[in-house]
Amino acid sequence: MKPRLFWIVVILLMVFALYAWVEITELGPLNLFYLEHANHLFATFGLIFIFLQFVLSTRLKLIEEGFGLDKMLHLHRHFGRIGIALIALHALFFLVFILLLTGRISTHFFLWVGVAALAGFALTGALASNYKKWNIAYETWKNIHLANYAIFPLALVHVFYNAASGSLLYYLWIAFAAAFAGIVIHKLHRLVYIRRHPYQVVDVVQEAEDIWSLYFKGEPLRYKPGQFMHLQLLRDGQLSSSHPFTLSSSPTWETLAVSPKELGDFTATVKETKVGDKAYIDAPYGVFSYLNSADGELVFIAGGIGITPFISMLRYMADRDTKKKVTLFWSNKHERNLCFQEELQQLEQEMEGLETVLVMSRQEDWEGEKGRIDGDLLKKYLKELPGREYFICGPPAMSKAVMAELQELKVPVSQIRREIFEL
Ligand SMILES: Cc1cc2nc3c(=O)[nH]c(=O)nc-3n(C[C@H](O)[C@H](O)[C@H](O)COP(=O)(O)OP(=O)(O)OC[C@H]3O[C@@H](n4cnc5c(N)ncnc54)[C@H](O)[C@@H]3O)c2cc1C
Repeated sequence: MKPRLFWIVVILLMVFALYAWVEITELGPLNLFYLEHANHLFATFGLIFIFLQFVLSTRLKLIEEGFGLDKMLHLHRHFGRIGIALIALHALFFLVFILLLTGRISTHFFLWVGVAALAGFALTGALASNYKKWNIAYETWKNIHLANYAIFPLALVHVFYNAASGSLLYYLWIAFAAAFAGIVIHKLHRLVYIRRHPYQVVDVVQEAEDIWSLYFKGEPLRYKPGQFMHLQLLRDGQLSSSHPFTLSSSPTWETLAVSPKELGDFTATVKETKVGDKAYIDAPYGVFSYLNSADGELVFIAGGIGITPFISMLRYMADRDTKKKVTLFWSNKHERNLCFQEELQQLEQEMEGLETVLVMSRQEDWEGEKGRIDGDLLKKYLKELPGREYFICGPPAMSKAVMAELQELKVPVSQIRREIFEL
């Protein structure tokens, strides 16, 4: 689904909700100035945002193909925050209204169900935004976040109690309940499908001091070079958590491959994987592929392990005998960090249009380019910068800095694509 279509659907949903709200207020939109009705409007929009953030986190192919999973999750976080803020406003207005008019707070069961839902959303939301600051492991907050699948039905119970049966809002909530059930069934179905179609590890190859490629065989997978998978390994009866990795293989190959760098708890154990171990693969995801871009000359800018989508694209281009002009800039701290180096040299000989520029940021005796990938370096090799398609994949700080340099050099944002190894 193209992002524009998604936004049209969202706007139509909001307009419908506004219309439905006007219907229950009886006196028309001026009721916004009555706290009693305004709080219902906040609740209605708040719940729509919360519902949409579920839709966005479900990895639905229909939406993902247009947005890319990273942008979907970015939007998911924003929608979650907006939804929680609106529902909190609803609670506040309600409290003020009840206190002002009746002087007492209702102890009705359905009210407390709503309070529990709001508290649940607020706690899981705060954890998601602050897990790094609070030193909580990625897997821990992710597991706690799943509680939202139980919290949303609580919110629905609360609104069903309050929505007059037969009103438009009532039917809207019925539609949401049905769609939510659909989302849960889709998620479970996907999980079961992946469990029933495991891949097998067929090779484990050390690419550099701390980089290991895993090769898998299993069901044929249709993907574009540059896309990524979610990978879970079953080793010695132990199932790992799920981690995203770019497919470093080419879609022209029979095997799938990923090339994780040792960075933390899971990636440090990749080297312990054995041939014959099982892998559960959920793929493909992402839109970071030159096949999705306009037909211009390509500039690939990689930082460290950010080379993986580019090696996949170059392998694919070589296999397809693609005659494209590609300039690859690849920065690393030291040449000992390089992986796929021999293969890159070979690709450069085979592919007429490929030029690679290796940059070392912390190796004084390196004979090639040293320092950072900046505007001067890009100008030195590219001469004309606008008019090309730029792809950047590397650590967030590097990616941001290169993006700023490109914009300074008048490259339109529409010609720059970025993949960040963080969801
Ligand atoms: C689209 C995409 C493609 C990627 N491709 C590659 C690749 O080709 N090669 C490579 O080496 N790395 C890649 N990564 C990064 C890789 O997923 C993380 O380095 C890895 O998940 C870290 O796990 P850990 O337990 O070893 O580290 P930890 O120390 O536990 O985590 C380090 C950081 O990695 C992220 N992270 C941790 N666990 C997960 C998880 N289960 N899901 C999502 N993010 C997580 C979090 O931001 C966390 O703060 C990619 C990431 C994304 C989003």
